[in-house]
Amino acid sequence: MISAQGIEKQFGDLKVLKGVDLTVKQGEVVSIVGPSGAGKTTLLQILGTLDKPNSGSVFINDTEIQSLREKELARFRNENIGFVFQFHQLLPEFTAVENIILPALIAGKNKSKSEKKAREILNFLNLKDREHHKPAELSGGEKQRIAIARALINDPDVVFADEPTGSLDSKNQEELQKLFFSLRDEFNQTFVIVTHDLHLAHLSDREIKMKDGIVI
Ligand code: ADP
Repeated sequence: MISAQGIEKQFGDLKVLKGVDLTVKQGEVVSIVGPSGAGKTTLLQILGTLDKPNSGSVFINDTEIQSLREKELARFRNENIGFVFQFHQLLPEFTAVENIILPALIAGKNKSKSEKKAREILNFLNLKDREHHKPAELSGGEKQRIAIARALINDPDVVFADEPTGSLDSKNQEELQKLFFSLRDEFNQTFVIVTHDLHLAHLSDREIKMKDGIVI
């Protein structure tokens, strides 16, 4: 599903990624772990097409990311990639369902069909009774699950998550950990997760350890 070769990234004089190779199979839950400053988020941003490497290439399902022009890339990203961040980044004035369907509307999909799908996902996430709630009316764990629902609305090939459990208490962390694996088991969903949550990392199919810009 994902193949990255020879990824290098530099910010000014600082070499942050020094030649990273990595592959991820469909249906794998892969964690990227390592100390702060190792380059994990930078790698995730490059794999997720949000940033460009200085050299190297990224393929997602046979599409070479570097070959896409800006507009094609924006469409590819919206339709094929889901994102979950440490802080949910839901829009405060929108309800749960309205937040979830945004990427579908951007992709030009039908609103009522998207809402129906959002409700199915909410059902799977045990959040059926929260669809009309706004973010301020939801708990931290619920907000993060809504963010996951939003990441899933366009049936992405892969979901990239950056510290998805980082802002949660241990009970909610555990629930979210389980959720990644139930989505993988049920829908063969692929996840690449940057995390300091060692329990989540150990549960993963594979842990990729990074240090000083390389995979160790
Ligand atoms: P990690 O996720 O492993 O903590 P990051 O990928 O966030 O590591 O950062 C790696 C290094 O790159 C850090 O030293 C960070 O300060 C630097 N860095 C990250 N993004 C930028 C940027 N946009 N501009 C300059 N330096 C950056």
